[in-house]
Amino acid sequence: MTPVDRTRLRALLQTETAAYAAANPRSRALHEEGTNLFGQVPMTWMRMWAGGFPLGFEAAKGNRVTDLDGHELVDLALGDTGAMAGHSPDPTLAAIRRRAQDLGGLTTMLPTADAQWVAAELTRRFTVPRWSFTLSATDANRWAVRLARLVTGRSKILVFGHCYHGSVDETFALPGPDGTTVSRPGNVAPPVPLDLTTRAATWNDLESVEEQLRHGDVAAVLTEPALTNIGIVLPEDGFMSGLRELATRYGALLMIDETHSFSAGWGGATTAWGLQPDVVVIGKSIGGGVPIGAYGLSEELAADVMRRTESGDADIVDVGGVGGTLAGNALSLAAARATLGEVLTREAFERMERLATDFTAGVQDAIDAQDLPWSVSRLGARAEYRFASPAPRTGAESAAAADDELDAYLHLALVNRGYLMTPFHNMALMCPTTSEADVAGHTAVFAEVTAALRG
Ligand code: PMP
Repeated sequence: MTPVDRTRLRALLQTETAAYAAANPRSRALHEEGTNLFGQVPMTWMRMWAGGFPLGFEAAKGNRVTDLDGHELVDLALGDTGAMAGHSPDPTLAAIRRRAQDLGGLTTMLPTADAQWVAAELTRRFTVPRWSFTLSATDANRWAVRLARLVTGRSKILVFGHCYHGSVDETFALPGPDGTTVSRPGNVAPPVPLDLTTRAATWNDLESVEEQLRHGDVAAVLTEPALTNIGIVLPEDGFMSGLRELATRYGALLMIDETHSFSAGWGGATTAWGLQPDVVVIGKSIGGGVPIGAYGLSEELAADVMRRTESGDADIVDVGGVGGTLAGNALSLAAARATLGEVLTREAFERMERLATDFTAGVQDAIDAQDLPWSVSRLGARAEYRFASPAPRTGAESAAAADDELDAYLHLALVNRGYLMTPFHNMALMCPTTSEADVAGHTAVFAEVTAALRG
């Protein structure tokens, strides 16, 4: 395998950056006019897009986005999973219209019948039977972490180096030297030193997990079933079952964050791989684009929280630190019912997974054809390539394979040819309306832009 020629890469990046600027004057103007926006974007992470400014968009439907300059793009980013059901799916739109327009009442503090329907569906898919709703996956993680601390009486959360679970203070940690836990570089003003709240272990390393659990102060192991925010780093055989076993042995809960790994199937990795979580967290996709998150608790855990509430130890009803005014609102639950019931169905997942398999094969062919030192990993309907071969086994290995120039080149070269990739690393997701032709088109474009790297 031959490394990429950096001089050639820089020249290509310059050409693609110039082409992007020339093709997108309206998007560029939108960015330049955003002077009252902090960082000139609605949310600071939008500065992550390559090319100096993000595309502004006019419209989106299914797996197509039309940008402000009129280009129709095949969307493989899908709102970083928020639009995994495709943009504005018809059943979700009908439910939104019915709730918003025909019935009325977007948020009231009162329950609707949709809540129990969605909770029952999440129970069928993710096994844990007691659900509560939030507005984001971050909030779902945050509140579930509090409940884990409550029932275990322990202070710390165990996470894996280079994990991401939203803006949850406890999770921005890395394993440090000699079993210590340190803050992740760039962590914005942590409220307390990370080793007070967190124990960090190494992905695919059960010994490192046990070393941390042995202290007896871990309330919950919080993890994705595969790391998906530092490339995709899949679990090795026995790692997830080993985690379950260690958590039980050391009295910690196992909290599975399915926000991205929902791509593994209709019931996420929990059902696809037979995981046995105490808590499941999900967000982003289940509302079809309407903000919603959810956490599900095991029967035993839910009963334990309730007992402590009744005895007055913990207040989950008033201002005890768990809840949000608009959480469980009627609009988000109407959208989730339609999205789960009619869009993200078993059949849709089977198709999406098949397409992601084709996508992965196309990327692998190009890697082989150009003899590139890269790898591609797939998690159900999601695939991602990484600039390392063989595929990284840990978060740190995957972080070491980051290459900003290659990322920028590939993102711009693809967008200039009609394919939108997730701005964070190189993740591509299929949705129910992604077609075989879209995947074949990507394969051809990816072959072209990787061949250009060799000249
Ligand atoms: N969990 C995981 C696994 C995620 O990838 C993310 C976001 N990328 C979140 C939680 C947080 O989601 P949100 O920002 O929508 O709260």
